Amino acid sequence: MTPDLPDRLADVDGRIADAARRAGRDPRDITRIVVTKFHPTSLVEELVRLGVRDVGENRQQELSAKRAELPDAGLRWHFIGQAQANKARAVRAAASAVHSVDRERIADALDAAAPDDDTDPLDVFLQVNLTDDAGRGGVAPADLERLAEHVTGCRSLKVRGVMAVAPLDENPADAFERLAGYSRRVRSVVPDATWISAGMTADFAEAIAAGATHLRIGSAITGPRPPRG
Ligand SMILES: *Cc1c(COP(=O)(O)O)cnc(C)c1O
Repeated sequence: MTPDLPDRLADVDGRIADAARRAGRDPRDITRIVVTKFHPTSLVEELVRLGVRDVGENRQQELSAKRAELPDAGLRWHFIGQAQANKARAVRAAASAVHSVDRERIADALDAAAPDDDTDPLDVFLQVNLTDDAGRGGVAPADLERLAEHVTGCRSLKVRGVMAVAPLDENPADAFERLAGYSRRVRSVVPDATWISAGMTADFAEAIAAGATHLRIGSAITGPRPPRG
């Protein structure tokens, strides 16, 4: 048992509710995803007992392994890591949503990995690069509409919205305001793609103020991540 886990979860949820109220938003419109990467499956089980329904993982192998250990936990598993086309089948088999679609090749691979013709579509977010460093994950803003058009044409994928990580060297409020603009641009192509995945431990209040609908919060809830072993 992780002694502080219930308190940390309650504290974060209180801060989410406060930030939502300050922004004139209903906290029930915000999905809090607990990022459990590097932590053991036992921690995910503890979170389930505390009522958590959405968890996030950033490595395919870890996602697949934890999901296999907890087949009946009623969890929605969010894949938030860099997606690789050759892992698409395993990601698709384990994830309810993929937050990191940033190029056509990944979208096509996830689409081709659909188990059969009348399967439920996979919820996907288009990850946008908010930095000037092309090596970071995410589509360049200039290519966003083109990507949205392509992914919305993938039969078994449902474009839900945008995702981003705030740059380290910029005020997150400014970065998330840009993201809100990118969200509007995606909605010009896919009108019901209203979700915005943004906000981590250090910046979730700013993300809520800018309209985030899905927060990806790790260490504020789980405590520090153990070294990978
Ligand atoms: C690890 C991770 C998070 C959570 O980070 P914390 O700072 O621990 O809240 C959120 N989003 C992504 C993409 C991550 O890789």
